Amino acid sequence: MLQNVTQIYKASFLKINMKKTKIEEIDIGIGFYSGKWSVIFLNKNLKKYPKLYNKVLKHELKHSKTSGFFRQTWVDIKDIKNIFYLDWLIFLIRHPRALFPGKIRGKLAIPIIGIIF
Ligand SMILES: [Zn+2]
Repeated sequence: MLQNVTQIYKASFLKINMKKTKIEEIDIGIGFYSGKWSVIFLNKNLKKYPKLYNKVLKHELKHSKTSGFFRQTWVDIKDIKNIFYLDWLIFLIRHPRALFPGKIRGKLAIPIIGIIF
C-alpha cells in the first residue's frame, strides 16, 4: 500500500516537473490548485493520510492540466465520488479547521469550492 503510494507520488512528480508545478503545504482547506502561481496547495495534515493525500494530489494534478472555468468545474464533477468519501469525512472530523476559509499567500481561500481570490 505505502509502496504503491510512493510510486504514484514519484509519477506525479514527473508530471509536475514537466509543467513546473510546485507543491506547497497549507494550514487551511484540503487541496487547492492555482494556475496563476502553478502551485498545488495541500493541507499539511494530509501527509498522515497517504490514501487521501494521493487522491487529493491526483485530483489537483487534473486541475493543473486543465484550463477554463467550465473545464475545471467538470474535473470536480467527475471526481466528486472519488474525493468526497469516508476518508475525507474522517479527515474533516479530525481537522475541522480545514472547512473554514483562510488565507493563502495573503489571498482569501474558500475550501470545498476550492477558490483562491
Ligand atoms: Zn477540484
